[in-house]
Amino acid sequence: MLQSHQSDRPSPDSTVLHAPYPASLHAIELQGLWHRFPGGCGGSEWTLQGIDLRLERGELVGLLGPSGCGKTTLLRLIAGFEWPQRGVIRLAGREVSGPNCCLAPERRGVGMVFQDYALFPHLTAWGNVCFGLRQRQNKGRAAWLLNLLGLSELAERYPHELSGGQRQRLALARALAPEPAVVLLDEPFSNLDVEVRLRLRSELPTVLAQCGTSGLIVTHDPEEALAICDRVAVLHDGRLHQCASPQQLVHQPATSFVGRFVLQGNVLPAWWQGSDLHTLLGPVQPLSGPSLPRLSVQEAAVEVLVSPDDIELEADDSGAGKVMGREFLGRSWLYQVEQGDVRLRVRRPMDMPLQIGQHCALRLRPAAVVKTFPATSSPQPTFVPS
Ligand code: ATP
Repeated sequence: MLQSHQSDRPSPDSTVLHAPYPASLHAIELQGLWHRFPGGCGGSEWTLQGIDLRLERGELVGLLGPSGCGKTTLLRLIAGFEWPQRGVIRLAGREVSGPNCCLAPERRGVGMVFQDYALFPHLTAWGNVCFGLRQRQNKGRAAWLLNLLGLSELAERYPHELSGGQRQRLALARALAPEPAVVLLDEPFSNLDVEVRLRLRSELPTVLAQCGTSGLIVTHDPEEALAICDRVAVLHDGRLHQCASPQQLVHQPATSFVGRFVLQGNVLPAWWQGSDLHTLLGPVQPLSGPSLPRLSVQEAAVEVLVSPDDIELEADDSGAGKVMGREFLGRSWLYQVEQGDVRLRVRRPMDMPLQIGQHCALRLRPAAVVKTFPATSSPQPTFVPS
């Protein structure tokens, strides 16, 4: 039977990990990680199922997925606040969690940035940044970081005297002060208003690059992950569906879930009639590509990914579709349309908006590019613990 690692297990090496380290080593290496909370976690017994992931030195990787898919738990495993039932974690080439070791969080050389900043309220900005420095006399680095993050003028202020954006910058400066090999960021921008969020998130890759630190950032916002990350790891129900560059995710989603979550696309059931593939919007041409799953007519259950922009919509009292909801997006409308037991997202230009409850006819745009997947395209875990 699998056992949790014990928190008092002796650590093999008490040296804290710091950047820089040889470029040939991975900043983070996760191998076959399985985790469950005592008593399970709702729907699935396992919070994380066989996670394999590697971050190169200096890379910024997004951890993207819906609420409850296990993103924070994965960060907590890496930081050392939780212990996996199975699998190995290496940071900067050194095993910090595995069958034979479990390094304490403060020995892992990991910086953490939280949603709620978690600053010390009784210390000034300067005091917060200096707090984690290995050598108290290393004030040069604290001054450099405050300058890098545009906080030099505010060094004597306490956290309550700073704006939300300034507090988040300070939290990042404090996490980076001890020169960690890796910084873990748990939805760091979610409490900020749009303008500050956009500015801070665009600065993050530059700040990490200047510090030579790798970052793993949790977000449930696909736009944020695609905008700033070198690669994005998409998690669903504790399984890693794909880890790829933003361009690859968009053009070559590995599973229908990735397409639905990252591209906000529609996933429709499809069926073969002879050698033609049909959907409720009519026949489609399966798109082939090097990393898209190959389909054959033997594939009984097939799913098709259709962009909300590739569906045409017009008012029609005898149409099979019905508008169930709509959102004004500024330049277009996003409709929720029900046809049979399928609900579709359809984005149309601003002309003549349809009313909620109106019947309508739907069809695929003639030039629509659709991606097809076997209905079982979810990754299957290679090991199922008993
Ligand atoms: P969100 O985006 O909403 O923060 P998440 O992807 O970060 O979600 P986690 O916080 O990792 O998700 O939680 C994954 C699952 O584990 C959820 O079902 C959650 O309820 C469960 N869970 C989290 N912490 C515990 C705990 N201490 N004990 C039991 N179950 C937990």
